Amino acid sequence: MFASHCLSLRVPQTPDSPYLALMNQHPDDIVFVINPNAGHALHHRTLTAICLAACDQAGRVAHVVATRTPEEATETARQAHESGAAAIFGCGGDGSLSALLQGLPVGSDTALGAVPLGTANVWAYETNLPTTPMAAIAAQLAALDGIQGEPLWIDTGKVWSTREDGSIAEQRFLLMASWGLDAAAVEGFEHSQRRRRLKSWIGEPAYFVSAVQEALSRRPWPMSISLDGAAPFTVDVAMMTAGNTRMIGTWAEINPKATVVDGALDLMLIEGAPWRAIALTPLTLAGWLPQASGVRHLPFQRLEATPLRDAPPIQIDGDPGPATAYAIDVEPGALRVLCPEPTSAVLGG
Ligand SMILES: [Mg+2]
Repeated sequence: MFASHCLSLRVPQTPDSPYLALMNQHPDDIVFVINPNAGHALHHRTLTAICLAACDQAGRVAHVVATRTPEEATETARQAHESGAAAIFGCGGDGSLSALLQGLPVGSDTALGAVPLGTANVWAYETNLPTTPMAAIAAQLAALDGIQGEPLWIDTGKVWSTREDGSIAEQRFLLMASWGLDAAAVEGFEHSQRRRRLKSWIGEPAYFVSAVQEALSRRPWPMSISLDGAAPFTVDVAMMTAGNTRMIGTWAEINPKATVVDGALDLMLIEGAPWRAIALTPLTLAGWLPQASGVRHLPFQRLEATPLRDAPPIQIDGDPGPATAYAIDVEPGALRVLCPEPTSAVLGG
């Protein structure tokens, strides 16, 4: 079936076997990163067969790499970039894409693709990708070849934080970084087995349930914020989202004016008690959040934030981030992605 195109399949044999690096890879090949232990419905062998078949149809050579940790996925992306891979696909949710993004240098010619298999798949939703793996891969390979849509250079964001030893850490993001209630809701899954069970049962709405539970017990987070070097202002933060894209999950546009090609990130700042972010849900769903009282919409290229009491939790592309985060930068035109059907969230308008 795949006689015309060679392939390599690198799957660790046991949980303790060493990580297997990419081998025999050539420029213009396609790399897929899968996690055999992920909880999604597709068995990894079925998923591998789909990846290979889609590339075979497009006349591309596929390499499927099984990774068990985000660090291994990041390392695979770094290797794919160094060997000149045309694209690297994350098979999973937005966290899978985030792990690959960390391994791609700014301006890498290796495009980032998505095989949406996570709980929310926000990037795939924002860019209107087909929902089945085979169709999603085929459409993005068509974009790579300019047959349908095109590869696009988009902005990314970068969060700066300090480690325990005082050194500086950086983490790139594709979708958003968010301080306050939203991050507390994400963090809630780390602490509560009951909430994790709910998430596996009902999926994405479990985030809203977690946010309501957090809103009942959380106080606002006073912070000092400076945008693009201007004089800092002090504000009680309920929730503060630095958006590259528009959606929070796939249910509401929290940053309805954001685009990934304008060289800026959009700050959506909800002031006051955390429950205000819940109370504003109807306006958020209607796309009117920027006009609501006590809400500020402020595009920026660099944000610096200092907690004035407890550090608020932060989430970065849907996963908990470091509480010591102190700044966010935009990286204009830093990432090549495959957009078979560019939407307004990508191109604006
Ligand atoms: Mg933007």
